[in-house]
Amino acid sequence: MNRPTRVASIGALALAGAILAVRIPSLDAQAADPQKVVDDAYAKFRNLREGKNADYIPALAKVDPNLFGIALVTTDGKVYTAGDLKTEVSIQSISKVFTMAQVIQEQGLDAIEKRIGVDATGARFNSIIAVEAVKTVVGTGAPEMNPLVNPGAISATSMVTGATADQVWTKIIGFHNDAAGRQLTVLQDVYKSESDTNQRNQAIGALMLAYGYIKDNWQQAVDLYTRQCSIGVNAKDLATMAGTLANAGKNPVTGKQVLDADKVPGVLAVMATAGLYDDSGKWLYHTGLPAKSGVGGGIIAVSPGKFGIAVVSPPLDDAGNSVRAQRAIADISNTLGGNPYAAGSKSGR
Ligand code: GLN
Repeated sequence: MNRPTRVASIGALALAGAILAVRIPSLDAQAADPQKVVDDAYAKFRNLREGKNADYIPALAKVDPNLFGIALVTTDGKVYTAGDLKTEVSIQSISKVFTMAQVIQEQGLDAIEKRIGVDATGARFNSIIAVEAVKTVVGTGAPEMNPLVNPGAISATSMVTGATADQVWTKIIGFHNDAAGRQLTVLQDVYKSESDTNQRNQAIGALMLAYGYIKDNWQQAVDLYTRQCSIGVNAKDLATMAGTLANAGKNPVTGKQVLDADKVPGVLAVMATAGLYDDSGKWLYHTGLPAKSGVGGGIIAVSPGKFGIAVVSPPLDDAGNSVRAQRAIADISNTLGGNPYAAGSKSGR
């Protein structure tokens, strides 16, 4: 090989190296370009018109059903987006993950397991029968439910410590802010609308007190729970929150350690078990990803060590999970090799 050719091939190698280097190291080296994968999913599902906005909270019925935003945040802090990233929806049940995480951070993994449980209920998120029918662990009396359905979530909110409701709230919103990497605010119209119509959650709160799963002040717990569900978020906020869980509790964009790394696997396990309510099994079967949905139309999903992803799209299926969010996240994650159970598989799932 004469000299100029060798120089040229070394140059070509360096260029190929540079191209590889701009790939995200945390993602499968064989995987496609994440921005293209996100763009393709946006184009593919943009015109999907299945599902219906939640309307049992009147303010949610008024949200534009065409709203569609996708964001993916890698554990090394890269952000890939498509669609609407500005419009905020209410976080709804996705907040349950972060309040559970906050209680685990403060009081340890045992506290949640003993007071609420970490088992799927197999029932809808606001089922009262699930409270009545709950089994308890022989010996300890710990209920077999979880913090991602309303009874367990209201109970988790009641466990956040603070001398006044304001002090508890400051901690709850603070934890959400840290995970999202910015100051979030409550969507007051949603908060008022749900507060006016949340008699069912009040009944659940009272019942949880009656069974001793909430220790006191169930009214305050229901109110703070309703407020946390009304926090406004866009797809990028949600993806950053998911990215924090993917990155061992450290926000990959701000660098702040929000949750101890050794507390993260427990949080992800409950998400895998119950994050999409009674459809959690089907979701896990197809994606392998711990995830959480909210009736505002958001879903977050976590590929541990790789990325957090979120989609906002209000129309829901019968189980209460966003139709487009499920489709787009599954498509993107499977293409990028996000399924933690799929090591060694070519199809990514
Ligand atoms: N705030 C809603 C409720 O309590 C949250 C439900 C959800 O997102 N699944 O009914």
